[in-house]
Amino acid sequence: MRFPSFFILLASCFGTAFGRNGSLDSVSAFGTRATRAVGSALRLVAMAAAGILAAANAEPARAESGRAGIVTFTFDDGFQTQYSVAFPLLGERGMVGTLYIPSGFIDSKGAPSRLTWDEVREISSAGWEIGSHTVSHPHLSDLSIEAARRELDESKHDIARRIGHAPVSFSPPFGDYNDAMLAEISKDYQSSVLASGDQSGFANDPRALNRFLIARFAVQDSTAPSALCDATIAAAKHKSWLVFEFHNVVDQTSGDFDYRRSEFEKVLDCVAKLRDDGSIRVLTTSGALQEFRKLTADKGN
Ligand SMILES: [Zn+2]
Repeated sequence: MRFPSFFILLASCFGTAFGRNGSLDSVSAFGTRATRAVGSALRLVAMAAAGILAAANAEPARAESGRAGIVTFTFDDGFQTQYSVAFPLLGERGMVGTLYIPSGFIDSKGAPSRLTWDEVREISSAGWEIGSHTVSHPHLSDLSIEAARRELDESKHDIARRIGHAPVSFSPPFGDYNDAMLAEISKDYQSSVLASGDQSGFANDPRALNRFLIARFAVQDSTAPSALCDATIAAAKHKSWLVFEFHNVVDQTSGDFDYRRSEFEKVLDCVAKLRDDGSIRVLTTSGALQEFRKLTADKGN
């Protein structure tokens, strides 16, 4: 997987530098013509130039080839601040996230602090993922299979009808699930996250991942931005998948799961810096899972 990427990069460097189509054939054709025309000295210069270009592209190549860590920003419960605060702050930094929405809370007259469907659609159109967090946010393990099925199916259909495509990612309210519920969730969705997980910073290992038990770093108002930054650095180092779980992002916190906007910006700046140097990638939940599938497919080649 590593070597083909490198050769493609090398070949495309030749293509870019010399106006060729970037295939390996054109590389050797160029080499032959260069030798005939002006001798081997020029060919050596061309090789050196390509080497410099390849080196300049080495970091992005590393990130693209899946050898970087991955960070996913997730937001539960459909709070309005996810549109008014989190969405623009991630957008300014060229990042996207995943919303897990209880579909019955959206456009709810009695809950003005929640998102509207127009806002959800705008977020979705910007490349964010919209996942399901049931309809009414119950404890799934308290429900009969029939009642749980209604929560899973109706939420899926509500979201599909409103944004134009069905959600594939699920978050059980309160992180509450049991084996029977996971079996039901897996009939409708491709993944399910936990409400908490390993906060030591070592996050999910893409090589040993249960996509229905994805650990998340549950962020509370007391969580220091430096703890989230440290976890991101660890994910970069271990090439693991770190999934942050946020709720409300506000100027003044009033609950355990509120997170202060100024602290949130510090976290984003830390993640953006690591993203810019090629150490991590920022993807949605389904985007990350897609990458892991690609890696597995590559290994089979
Ligand atoms: Zn929730």
